[in-house]
Amino acid sequence: MSAKILIVEDEPAISELLAFNVIQAGFRAMRAEDADSTWQQIRKNMPDLILLDWMLPGTEGITLAKQLRAEAHTKNIPIIMLTARGEERDKVMGLESGVDDYVTKPFSPRELMARIRAMLRRHAPQMPDATVTAGALELAPATHRVTAKGMAVELTPVEFRLLHFFMTHTERVYSRTQLLNEVWGTQVFVEERTVDVHIRRLRAALEPAEMGSLVQTVRGSGYRFSTS
Ligand code: CA
Repeated sequence: MSAKILIVEDEPAISELLAFNVIQAGFRAMRAEDADSTWQQIRKNMPDLILLDWMLPGTEGITLAKQLRAEAHTKNIPIIMLTARGEERDKVMGLESGVDDYVTKPFSPRELMARIRAMLRRHAPQMPDATVTAGALELAPATHRVTAKGMAVELTPVEFRLLHFFMTHTERVYSRTQLLNEVWGTQVFVEERTVDVHIRRLRAALEPAEMGSLVQTVRGSGYRFSTS
């Protein structure tokens, strides 16, 4: 699962180090150095988790965390705060601001990556556990595994939800807006073309099993998932 991690850190050396470790751990790294660039990045691509430095120029990390929690479309993104401050009082402040976890600098990259994995698991989308099948495609919400003709399919959380929705709603055409509401939730502030991006990725992920064509484009209307 290649989740997108947004690294918000103003010190280039630390940002580099974090990005390196995030990529090594098999995630995708996005980077921002202050509050403005964080919002810009989020607008481009919704991250699955944010690593947020406390000490940022301008808006502090803690304030940015509160702002992220106050917006409907970002309030559910897990946040791990990075800070050089270890005092208990600050930890409490961090947790009250809606930060989900806390890592004190200097951090052990291995421990940080373990925390990221644990956080992503906890925030995995809630859905019924029943395994769904469509043709030679099998999706198991309980284990978060997808197989196509017996081959493992690697999906991000969003693409997993998208495929789950399609597999439980086959043969019907859904507009981009409907898909946004069903898969991303009404919290969205995601642009419609984001749907196209995820559809392309979903198709690419299914293509090794030659099943990308199950996700059909219906011109002028939207998308349909069809196994027939
Ligand atoms: Ca900093």
